[in-house]
Amino acid sequence: MTQHILVINAGSSSIKYQLIDVATGVRQTSGLAERIGEGLGRVKHESDGREFEWQTEIADHTEAFAQMARGFADAGTPLDTLDLAAVGHRVVQGGSEFLTATLIDDHVAERILALSDLAPLHNPANYSAIVAARAAFADVPHVAVFDTSFHQTLPEAAYSYAIAPEVAAQYGVRRYGFHGISHQVVSQRAAELLGRPLTELKQIVLHLGNGASACAVDGGRSVDTSMGLTPLEGLVMGTRSGDIDPGALLHLMRAGLSVEALDRLLNKQSGLLGLGGSNDMRDIRAGVAAGDPAARLAFDIYVRRLKHYIGAYLALLGGVDTIVFTAGVGENHAPMREAVCSGLEWLGIEIDPVRNESPDRGARVVSSDASRVAILVVPTDEEAEIARQAAEVTAR
Ligand code: ADP
Repeated sequence: MTQHILVINAGSSSIKYQLIDVATGVRQTSGLAERIGEGLGRVKHESDGREFEWQTEIADHTEAFAQMARGFADAGTPLDTLDLAAVGHRVVQGGSEFLTATLIDDHVAERILALSDLAPLHNPANYSAIVAARAAFADVPHVAVFDTSFHQTLPEAAYSYAIAPEVAAQYGVRRYGFHGISHQVVSQRAAELLGRPLTELKQIVLHLGNGASACAVDGGRSVDTSMGLTPLEGLVMGTRSGDIDPGALLHLMRAGLSVEALDRLLNKQSGLLGLGGSNDMRDIRAGVAAGDPAARLAFDIYVRRLKHYIGAYLALLGGVDTIVFTAGVGENHAPMREAVCSGLEWLGIEIDPVRNESPDRGARVVSSDASRVAILVVPTDEEAEIARQAAEVTAR
């Protein structure tokens, strides 16, 4: 019988799930239960091109799994008829202790909860889903795959902030980095696309979705990344500011803004939304086309910040073989890719306008033949990577 991995990506009010064939890595089913604990919820289940959708109250993550089971049953593939090799859970924060994907037992689950201090928006939801899923699938191994693990190879000089080490140690203040699952799978696929060993490549991977981060990957290892203690540092994002003078926070606090107000400002009301009125790059692009100066400024700051990181990583890596664009903006927004690469021709980074504008959606080269650095677009697939790592852990 075909073996599957069930991949769970849980947020505080939603659970996304996918069923992936272990042997082929092909996604057979995907679904979403949303507005958990928020009154009338919604479930969407898609299997073999057929869609099922209904509304119902979803009180908690346990109920969300019951609704997911209903989706599988309605689609004619009840969960108990499937051979589940493992359930793979995406976990945002693994701190300094989870270096790789890890089989979940009671102790591991408790440690994931304990790390909530460092990821208050994410780890509690990941933990609730783990508890509910372990109850629902008691006979199946559960594996936690962390967004931080890939960055555990950062050298000390990259993960340390320039503050007193005792304070840093006491409060766990260091760069953890995020989007690691994506940076890992994308850098691997980039090497495959180039037909070169991963261990020989210097890469700059730009994951540009609603959240966005850059990663310097040397020989398959993350050596620097733009997100830090939290996913707020670094690039301009949909609603997050990215880098800002920490003195600005002190200034705003002294002016009377509360911690909650600052949290809201920097995480929810900044970035493209704060600057240009929408967190969606498609709206910003439409604004630019219509001559809206706020949208133009949002776009320019977004691009400028990316150039900062590319320049920094070129210097840290001592050169680069490939710059890789991924996630919603990176995969779909050709003008942004062009703007980011323009002016870098003297470094051997030269985009090909026709390739860049091509409607092709797969992994592809968008640099010119003359470009010394390969500019790539590689669709991310975090769920496939979670399934791969979960299968690897359970096969040990
Ligand atoms: P998430 O970080 O939520 O997983 P995605 O990687 O799916 O997000 O990226 C979502 C974002 O991608 C959207 O908010 C939007 O800014 C951008 N995006 C999606 N499609 C396009 C497109 N065709 N052109 C420009 N930007 C796009």
